[in-house]
Amino acid sequence: MSDARRLLRADGYDAIVVGAGHNGLVAAAYLARAGRSVLVLERRDVLGGAAVSEAVWPGWTVSTASYVCSLLHPRIVSELRLASYGYEAYRKDPASFTPLPDGRSLVLSRDAAENAREIGAFSRRDVAGFAAFEREAERLGSVLFEAFEAAAPDTPRIDDAARAAFDGSAAALVERYVETPVLQATLATDGLIGTYAGPRDAGTGYVLAHHYAGRALGVQGAWGFVRGGMGSISRALALAARIAGCSFQTSATVTRILVRDGRAYGVALDDGTEFEAPLVISNADPHTTFSLLATSDVPAGTRAKLAGWKSDGCSLKLNLALGELPDFEARPGRDTAAPHHRATVHVAPSLDYLQTAHDDARTLGASRAPMLECFMQTPTDPSLAPPGKHLLSIFAQYFPYERADGAWNDRKREDAANLIVATLARYAPNLPNAIEARQILAPPDLEERFGLYRGHIFHGELLPGQILGDRFPARTEIDGLLLCGSGASPGGCVSGLPGLHAANAAMAGAATIGSN
Ligand SMILES: Cc1cc2nc3c(=O)[nH]c(=O)nc-3n(C[C@H](O)[C@H](O)[C@H](O)COP(=O)(O)OP(=O)(O)OC[C@H]3O[C@@H](n4cnc5c(N)ncnc54)[C@H](O)[C@@H]3O)c2cc1C
Repeated sequence: MSDARRLLRADGYDAIVVGAGHNGLVAAAYLARAGRSVLVLERRDVLGGAAVSEAVWPGWTVSTASYVCSLLHPRIVSELRLASYGYEAYRKDPASFTPLPDGRSLVLSRDAAENAREIGAFSRRDVAGFAAFEREAERLGSVLFEAFEAAAPDTPRIDDAARAAFDGSAAALVERYVETPVLQATLATDGLIGTYAGPRDAGTGYVLAHHYAGRALGVQGAWGFVRGGMGSISRALALAARIAGCSFQTSATVTRILVRDGRAYGVALDDGTEFEAPLVISNADPHTTFSLLATSDVPAGTRAKLAGWKSDGCSLKLNLALGELPDFEARPGRDTAAPHHRATVHVAPSLDYLQTAHDDARTLGASRAPMLECFMQTPTDPSLAPPGKHLLSIFAQYFPYERADGAWNDRKREDAANLIVATLARYAPNLPNAIEARQILAPPDLEERFGLYRGHIFHGELLPGQILGDRFPARTEIDGLLLCGSGASPGGCVSGLPGLHAANAAMAGAATIGSN
């Protein structure tokens, strides 16, 4: 870099936040509210990271990455007054709709009597079994909700039964309570989201519980939509931070975290600009963060943890602009939105189907018959699409970053999208002709667009060895460098908690903030 391009900025910032994902925004907002001067540097031209609403096509507002909300911590919502800055979440109801190839289907909602009717059509025994499963899942979620409040979740506080459930498989958890294949599979999908493991694999019990750990909708484990898409969360957070005095720079890629004598003291951008501050807080995932340091500045303990860090993305997001509603053979109708159109539509007929989807990807490169989770927010928020049109987001597995059949290319992207559409079209035959535009985000695209290392949606697997006390702590082994992204405790999803814990760690080390 020429000296002319090198511009050293020592503007008196107390902290620099690398990345404006929602967690970076939470950290920045809390620090700014506490009177610190904070600069946020974001490589993209939009704020929010994977919690973002983007105009992918004119007239359409797409939650391009995350699409539903549950874990956003109520404390963050109230302390940062997010509702006054436009944040509004509403419950998804029904919760799920799972059509079957034989024309039957299962809808689960918050209406216990309806659930009894729906489940009873498959198995009388499962009516009580489902209620017992829900109680146990909510209990496990509640254990995590409490544990997540601690900066480094205190595993001894987690009871033995919960620990055993976390270590076990999602299949074991659901099979203990219910016997109907479609019900088992629908419930087990929470244990597989973003995770390169099948329902019978150890540790997926934790992933399931993690998806019950939220109270954003006021009910343990309930999920909902955010009005205006997930970007409304990030917009509200950015507003809270801005009003508290925080500065932002977008299209600003940090290429180096500057370290001297084992202490971080600033960052350098790709254009050569350097900013100094006594505290650098990274919202990037752990691999990306530590790749911004000279290898010799990364302590051996951190290097060892990174070497074992599992972070291979396996999820593909397909966003579809539809000219009409999908017309499901199991519940016909496309003229007006029916309850099942508001639900998560699962393609998950049985645990064996899901396990095979995973196993195929390991050996063949991708699932032959994928697991799908499909969401339509437009029936409850028509502002997201032109009048009469609908947005369908499909989260599909398993399409791993590293394919056994060779690297991703345009042909493989198109093949994956075509397979996903054909898979859903088995249940809603009008789908292919309803598609007006599509956006395919395979793991390498998630990496390129959102900066997610190897396309992992949670900055690293949420499996034992990488959860609770084994996640990266906010405090790194390098003085003045904190982590505030989903790779840090307590992990992925739109919770804001890694950002909150990093802000607390920064304030606990207040002696160092603003000391130069
Ligand atoms: C396709 C997909 C679907 C998902 N669905 C859901 C869902 O429905 N609900 C849910 O709760 N969670 C979901 N998740 C997970 C959730 O979105 C993430 O765990 C969470 O948003 C991550 O937030 P974060 O702030 O920790 O990091 P990110 O959102 O990853 O933010 C990191 C930011 O740092 C920036 N950055 C990286 N490197 C640099 C650099 N060198 N210089 C400057 N900036 C940099 C990035 O551009 C990015 O903006 C999904 C994720 C994906 C990808």
